[in-house]
Amino acid sequence: TPTVGVLALQGDVREHLAALGSLDVQAVAVRRPGELDACDGLIIPGGESTTMAKLARIFELLDPLRKRVAAGLPVFGTCAGMIMLADRVLDGAAGQETVGGLDITVRRNAFGRQVDSFEGSLDVAGLDSPVHGVFIRAPWVEQVGPEVEVLASAAGHPVAVRQGPLLATSFHPEVGSDVRLHRMFTELVRG
Ligand code: GLN
Repeated sequence: TPTVGVLALQGDVREHLAALGSLDVQAVAVRRPGELDACDGLIIPGGESTTMAKLARIFELLDPLRKRVAAGLPVFGTCAGMIMLADRVLDGAAGQETVGGLDITVRRNAFGRQVDSFEGSLDVAGLDSPVHGVFIRAPWVEQVGPEVEVLASAAGHPVAVRQGPLLATSFHPEVGSDVRLHRMFTELVRG
């Protein structure tokens, strides 16, 4: 049984642990480098990316996270977690750091300029019926590199992407009871 961690510095950690609970994985909260070492896959939750990045630096997790991602660790980032995985951030805080690894440019709070939050039905490549997308001060993707597959778009911008073992959504699949995106991720973890 693979061990899937949820980065538990800040954000909606409990919801992700609950979603993983219905899949055949060992779900663990990750706050220390040793806990990260034990993971076969990791979820970076929604929350606030600048705070999460600062805490990751303080908890000495940022460099271990970068090393594991570079070594091929499967990671699923949702909302703030998508920002954490992005190689490039627009409208970030001054000096905002990310883990990186995903060859995308994200714009923080992109939807927020029109509406802070919205929900809607979203077609996702690989799923046979739409998901209910919950967007909360969500980023969108402005540019993707050649290795990046766009799985879903909203308002003309990618909001779900995959690059090898890295999966990211602008929205919050951990809200509600639809675990299909979590299952998609745990299948990536299983290889
Ligand atoms: N706006 C947040 C950020 O920039 C992300 C919002 C979320 O994760 N719901 O980190």
